[in-house]
Amino acid sequence: MSAKKLGLTGKILIGMVAGAILGVILNPLNVDGSTVQFVFVDGIFRVLGEFFITSLMMLVVPLVFFSLVVGTCSLSDPASLGRLGGKAVGLYLMTTAIAITLALAVANIVKPGRSGALERPNVGEFDAGEAPSFLDVLIDMVPRNPIDAMAEGNMLQIIVFALLFGIAMALAGKPGERLKVVFEDVNEIIMKLVMLLMHVAPYGVFALMARVFADLGWGEVLQGLLLYFGTVFLLLVFHGWVMYPLILTALTRLNPRMFLKKMAGNQVFAFSISSSNATIPVTLRTVKQRLGVDNSVASFTVPLGATINMDGTAIMQGVATVFIAQIYGIELTMAQYLMVIGTATLASIGTAGVPGVGLIMLAMVLQQVGLPVEGIALILGVDRLLDMTRTAVNITGDAMVTTVVAKSEGKLDEAIYNDPEAGLANRSRSDT
Ligand code: ASP
Repeated sequence: MSAKKLGLTGKILIGMVAGAILGVILNPLNVDGSTVQFVFVDGIFRVLGEFFITSLMMLVVPLVFFSLVVGTCSLSDPASLGRLGGKAVGLYLMTTAIAITLALAVANIVKPGRSGALERPNVGEFDAGEAPSFLDVLIDMVPRNPIDAMAEGNMLQIIVFALLFGIAMALAGKPGERLKVVFEDVNEIIMKLVMLLMHVAPYGVFALMARVFADLGWGEVLQGLLLYFGTVFLLLVFHGWVMYPLILTALTRLNPRMFLKKMAGNQVFAFSISSSNATIPVTLRTVKQRLGVDNSVASFTVPLGATINMDGTAIMQGVATVFIAQIYGIELTMAQYLMVIGTATLASIGTAGVPGVGLIMLAMVLQQVGLPVEGIALILGVDRLLDMTRTAVNITGDAMVTTVVAKSEGKLDEAIYNDPEAGLANRSRSDT
């Protein structure tokens, strides 16, 4: 197969697998002070990987801001904004609640913590932090200083500012129209930059995977954590590749296979960089150019989803809570289960989609239901791989909800959705 025919997704997949294999091979040689560690793992792989992630991160704030302003400004009536937001938030919360309920139920059947192969850790190794209250999150959504919000990458604040700016722009008459043309151009240019970056993605993904696998030891997975790991992993796969297509079909009658096929490249991205936030540029590109969602919906629901929708993370929290409770021999009551569902769903609202944030949210959940937070130490060793997988699930949920909302609002171009070739990287017209 020629390199051109292989397509970008194929090349990224090859980069991922090759990186993982090389990492596993290097793993035994990757000891402290070794040349392998110095030159490859902490040298070449680190530099290439970091370059790649940082350049994606670089695009997130400008892309979210400009595309959301343009998107809001093009919505004809402000009422549609409220409706759109209501649908998106409702669906995001509903899918998260389904995910965690499923996780709690399955974990109770599988009983991953009953194998007795693990010692309870008695030293606190994990700092829980304070769970922000729902009201605090709500108040904090309005930025005191939008430049600060952008500098810090506070997604909810950026979204609020961009929405208000977009509405004002639509109401401002001539000045608004003039600025809209400029913003649309900036938006196109940033999307072009995303495209350019995608061409180096196979190398970036390769380096990231090689580093992760060179660092990961398999030993820990086998020491009694296998059941925990397997339960979370299979539930993630089920939620991402069975549950979402079912919800999509039930709510829209669209072809779910087409959805999964077009999401594949996007999932590999999310998997290798473990961050829904850093994946926003790629997710936006996929839903707009590959799935046919109009910018007025995608620019709002995708960044919102990256911040408030973390079904994969919720699944991990559900299983981990039951796992830790079982290790410590604590029986959870029905009220505690409900509290886990509530806290995990709400905790996802205020936390950004970045690597490892799921563990911090888990600490909040454990604290809330009175379970020992230091139990997290038990699962730290296998969390990296699960973090990668749940990030792929998280962004799939964002794209699924975006597609459902777009379809219900008449903002989905089904000709694009059903065209397997739409928006492919080597089709120059749709690249812009
Ligand atoms: N890394 C995940 C994400 O960005 C969050 C987590 O589960 O840690 O979506």
